Amino acid sequence: MSRGDMAKPLLGHRSMEGDPSIPPAAGRTVGVLGSGDFARSLATRLVCSGFKVVVGSRNPKRKAGLFPSAAEVTFQADAVKKTDVIFVAVFREHYSTLCDLADVLVGKILVDVSNNTEINHRKESNAEYLASLFPACTVVKGFNVISAWTLQSGARDGNKQVLICSDNQEAKRTVAEIAQVMGFTPVDMGCMSSAREIENIPLRLFPAWKIPIFLALGLFLCFFTYNLIRQVIHPYIREQKNKLYKIPIEVVNTTLPCVSYVMLSLVYLPGVLAACLQLHYGTKYRRFPDWLDQWLQHRKQIGLLSFFCAALHAVYSLCLPMRRSHRYQLIETAVKQAVEKKMNVWVEEEVWRMEIYISVGIIALGLLSLLAITSLPSVANSLNWREFSFVQSTLGFIALVISTLHTLTYGWSRAFDENQYKFYLPPTYTLTLLVPCTVILAKIIFSLPCIQQRLLRIRRGWEKGRYVKFVLPSATGEFSSGETSSNV
Ligand code: NAP
Repeated sequence: MSRGDMAKPLLGHRSMEGDPSIPPAAGRTVGVLGSGDFARSLATRLVCSGFKVVVGSRNPKRKAGLFPSAAEVTFQADAVKKTDVIFVAVFREHYSTLCDLADVLVGKILVDVSNNTEINHRKESNAEYLASLFPACTVVKGFNVISAWTLQSGARDGNKQVLICSDNQEAKRTVAEIAQVMGFTPVDMGCMSSAREIENIPLRLFPAWKIPIFLALGLFLCFFTYNLIRQVIHPYIREQKNKLYKIPIEVVNTTLPCVSYVMLSLVYLPGVLAACLQLHYGTKYRRFPDWLDQWLQHRKQIGLLSFFCAALHAVYSLCLPMRRSHRYQLIETAVKQAVEKKMNVWVEEEVWRMEIYISVGIIALGLLSLLAITSLPSVANSLNWREFSFVQSTLGFIALVISTLHTLTYGWSRAFDENQYKFYLPPTYTLTLLVPCTVILAKIIFSLPCIQQRLLRIRRGWEKGRYVKFVLPSATGEFSSGETSSNV
């Protein structure tokens, strides 16, 4: 997983936090039009942050009691006259009712905080619409990604970023300054044409998770169907045995580890493919295909879903002995053995297989938990690059190897038992091994000195067919420089 993904702001734009060009906001008077939920939370937070607040309402007498006593609640026109920066906490549908204020609004900064109910609801953003209604004002889009709840509970309890855009740099700077004093992180999103994008943000539902979730669901569906055929449909067709009771727990519990294991290997497969391409191109300065870029960017989510499935598998496995069916089967086996007068049922090989299988599974889950924890931005930010890459890359690969051991000890010799081939279908675990084993094999090949050296050089800027200066690590771990050409 790339560290950049964790460290960068929600959106890849310039953070204005700590910008020395942003002037202090001390004691500025800020206006708020509207007296609804957002206006109340905003006014409260502005007052707490040391601003003088004037609220403009159509009915100030009735609404005054809802605001902190330090805020002045007055008629809209009166409020607008008293300040240069006005937050428009009114729905877009009611913007036109503010047109009566056009004269007093001339030259003022209007902050459009509105959101829509649908993504790309209209061609024109709300902020652009407001700007068209009040051409003599400067409109800044901002604060819409912050909820009334976040404003009230404090920036620490919610998202800290305030995305801001406007065609007027000075106005944008003023609003950024206010956001900063309120404890938020202003992020410059550029000019007014970005307003539509900013208005879409609060409406998006886990955009980075869509592909990984579909991938996990797709894998789950495939493995579930495969296991259903082997564990339920096959005994029904061949022996007329009703095994439907296996569906809720047994089939699900054999499916979850398959999904988790394959997903974990899919976290490392794009890195292998990227390395193959770099070796093939002989440079790191050539773009990867879009699908590979996308895949690389989704590794964190794929890894977390792998951990989620592994955790569910652990809980399901712990619950297996609780099932009624399991108790009946145990009693049935005990009775059978008593009837057959079997005294010693201990199978040494089975005992060892199970001990190793469970132990290795626990270690794999422990490592996956570590990977999941270090992918949290707050934890990732506390690690330096080497620590982060050690956990995500080295420990992650070890987790994949240990998961492979877990799978192999589970399967043991089943792949060689012809009774395990239901409808000629091989045991599920043999299928799950394909991608992870390919990744492990590729990683082993890449660790061969001749390939590793070439890859290292490429990643430090060396290019096939070019004469460049590059740096090689010396035996002591320090760096020594050397000249080389492409054919060295
Ligand atoms: P709300 O509770 O319904 O308040 C809207 C306010 O608009 C009313 O209290 C009213 O105040 C004023 N208003 C002015 N002209 C109006 C008219 N013609 N008809 C009706 N009301 C009129 O809404 P809200 O939740 O505060 O949201 C206000 C804006 O903030 C919206 O654009 C919303 O998208 C945005 N926003 C809200 C949140 C949130 O968490 N609530 C988060 C981000 C953005 P007076 O009666 O005093 O004039």
